[in-house]
Amino acid sequence: MAVLNEVRTMSNHLGPLEVECDAPPYAIVRACRKLGMSEPEDVRWCRKGRSRRSQSWIQFFSPLWGHLIGREERDETSCVCGWPLPLLENYSFTFLSGEQVEYQMGQCPRCRTIYWDKV
Ligand SMILES: [Zn+2]
Repeated sequence: MAVLNEVRTMSNHLGPLEVECDAPPYAIVRACRKLGMSEPEDVRWCRKGRSRRSQSWIQFFSPLWGHLIGREERDETSCVCGWPLPLLENYSFTFLSGEQVEYQMGQCPRCRTIYWDKV
């Protein structure tokens, strides 16, 4: 049982790596259109902080793994299309329930990838 628990913890840590890019809840994505983002429902979303965190976790424990996922090892300061990363701005969203969340977001002017992270 102890072993099983360990495996489960491991896969929790590795989970985000399988999803190279992910988007916030759809309500947020839709709201981004009002913020001036271009076609938020159709563009690629990359969560910044998460991928960086899991990458450093991997590299900390096994440099070889970092090697195996080499495609993740791109310059953190440039977009997937090669342009400089867009500046992330803070946006605050209020749900109908009254719950408030803050996101940092920025869209690449070239390939329209939206970079984001939860504040
Ligand atoms: Zn781009």
